[in-house]
Order: sequence, then C-alpha cells, then structure tokens
Amino acid sequence: MEIKIFPDPKLRVVADKVQEFGEREMNKTIKEMFRIMYECGGIGLAGTQIGLDKRIVVCNLEAGSGNKTKEQVFINPRILKRKGTILSDEGCLSLPGIRANLNRYKRVKVEYFDEKEKKHLVEAEELLAILFQHEIDHLDGMLIIDRMSMSQKAAINHVLKEFEEDFNNGKVRKSEKVDNAL
Ligand SMILES: [Zn+2]
Repeated sequence: MEIKIFPDPKLRVVADKVQEFGEREMNKTIKEMFRIMYECGGIGLAGTQIGLDKRIVVCNLEAGSGNKTKEQVFINPRILKRKGTILSDEGCLSLPGIRANLNRYKRVKVEYFDEKEKKHLVEAEELLAILFQHEIDHLDGMLIIDRMSMSQKAAINHVLKEFEEDFNNGKVRKSEKVDNAL
C-alpha cells in the first residue's frame, strides 16, 4: 500500500465504520499504516489516505523521535464537543508541498475505540485536537484545500492544476517528508 496523492478519487471516499474488531486483517492494516506514516515522516494517517475505506486513524505525536510507545490507534473516532479556536499551520501527506493556515477548534472531546473494541473518551487540545480534526476530515473525504479561504486557494490554484495534470498523465507524485504532516 502507498499514500494516495491529490486528486486521487480515493481521497474523496467517505469511509465506513469498522464493525468487526480484532480481525487479523485489521491488525495487519494498522501495522502497515504505521509503516507508511513513518516512511513519509507523518505524525498521523487516516485509512482513506491509503485507499482504505475504513474509519481507522493511526498517530504518533513523537514520530520524529522514534518513540514507538506513543503510538495510538483511533477507530471510529467521533468529535463530541468543540471549544475555542486555534490557528493551525497544517501539512498533509496527500498534498506534498502544500501548507494551509486553518482555523481549527482548540479543544475537542473525542470518542473512539481501540483495536480491542474498548471505548475511550479523550479531551484533546492543541496538536492532538488538530490531528483529530484533520484525520476525521480525511475519513469524511475532506482535505485541507476544502477548508482554505477563497484567497488562500486561489494562491495555490496553479499548483493544484499541476497535481491534476500529473495524476491524469499517470505520473506518480511522492509524499515528501515534512514536519508534523497529517
Ligand atoms: Zn492529511
């Protein structure tokens, strides 16, 4: 598996909820998602980014330091509460080279399940709150370019055109290593 790059239509799929937990197949997929996330230098990755139509997110906020004890898996994550705003400078593994300044909620309360189908509630803030919003957008087929202002989007329109041309010509763009990419 590999990262889907804009404008791959797989990035626009609304992923299905995971119904069957503990399957060998799912655990294999999660391992593969971490592998790809580390390879691209990301701190978070959503199922839809590798063409997987399942509501699974992997994350490691300390991926850069190689600390694997900070790995987390969020299955069927759902935002229950949102509070405050924070200006977020975001990169996306599926849009290499593009950064967006977005208004995100500063704190979110999120419900999710782990691989053993245990339900968790977490109050996330700052980077983790942004990560949840970014990755849940992915699971809903949404990208950072959809949340940009008109003027922000106009400024990178020519770059998006290049992405589209490359995709239509079958030229595979690679994800770039960038800090805190999601
Ligand atoms: Zn992303």
